[in-house]
Amino acid sequence: MMNFSLLSVLHKYNSFSIFTHIRPDGDAIGSSLALGIALMQRGKKIRVFCSDQIPAKYSFLPGIEQLHDFSPGKEKGGLAFILDCSDLDRLGKLKDRIAAFDVIVNIDHHITNNHFGHVNLVDPSAASTGELIFKLLQESNFDLNYEISLNLYVAISSDTGSFKYENTTPQTMRIAGELLEKGINPAVVSQKLFDEYPLSTIFLLRDSLAGLELNHTREIAWMSVNEEMLKKYGAEPSEMDGFVNYLKNISGVEVGVLFYHTAEGSKIGLRSKTIDVALIAQTFGGGGHPRAAGCTVFGSPREVEKKVIDTINNSLEENRLSTANTFNR
Ligand code: 5GP
Ligand code: MN
Repeated sequence: MMNFSLLSVLHKYNSFSIFTHIRPDGDAIGSSLALGIALMQRGKKIRVFCSDQIPAKYSFLPGIEQLHDFSPGKEKGGLAFILDCSDLDRLGKLKDRIAAFDVIVNIDHHITNNHFGHVNLVDPSAASTGELIFKLLQESNFDLNYEISLNLYVAISSDTGSFKYENTTPQTMRIAGELLEKGINPAVVSQKLFDEYPLSTIFLLRDSLAGLELNHTREIAWMSVNEEMLKKYGAEPSEMDGFVNYLKNISGVEVGVLFYHTAEGSKIGLRSKTIDVALIAQTFGGGGHPRAAGCTVFGSPREVEKKVIDTINNSLEENRLSTANTFNR
């Protein structure tokens, strides 16, 4: 990581804006709130911006009520932190607000990050942006109280799929251990994030899986969801988070693809076992991590599905990750 300390900017500014990505997940929300609460403890005025609704399942997070804000005012100058965004397009309709700030601090862990900030704290070896915020706060001797710790634990737990994905490292576990010492209950967090969902989610999953498709080698599995399917059950788009894993988890399947077709294009979620899907997402203007990536593609649902599946089919071998899933080191 570059040389940057929170202490150095604390003298200069009385307020900070924190922005995070569209369709926010636990890492986006938890990292932003943790940083926000920490800076608030030092007497700073903080606002946290996200262009999309925060999914209901994160409403238990400390700070969400005070800090979360949809529409920035007429900021002029000042410092903005941008968290968990690989590029500025990830800010959605808030992207244009960024030009108003003097200093942009980009804190992220995506390998596809394009270093859009004046300061770029980008570390793809970190499992989550939450890990980077933990280190930043610790380096500057911030008191990691219960509220900050819970947000960081949610961030880390969320991006590691509850400490089970390949991105989980000894550092991830050490940080999680320190957070548990602050009194976090891991069972409650895991229940809130992964093991509880509204009935609408399971109805939507049922209808989605009914349209499951596989390529001829059965290495690629996909299914699609559209706005009408969500409307039928009053489901939110965030309720699809995790659906793609059912596809990737099928024995023999290397890549799972979830298409969400909307009037504003098709949002594509990619998950893999041994294929670098970040490279595939990048060919469509998206990005992400080697085993979890996404992009938006325009066209009719049929065209989009054909284009994406054909591209994956034709590039399976060249995108194979050198470290296949194995128990060997
Ligand atoms: P998900 O499938 O959960 O929406 O996204 C998986 C991963 O891919 C996340 O790390 C997310 O940041 C990244 N991702 C998803 N969609 C996009 C996109 O349109 N552009 C970029 N750059 N990254 C994306
Ligand atoms: Mn993240």
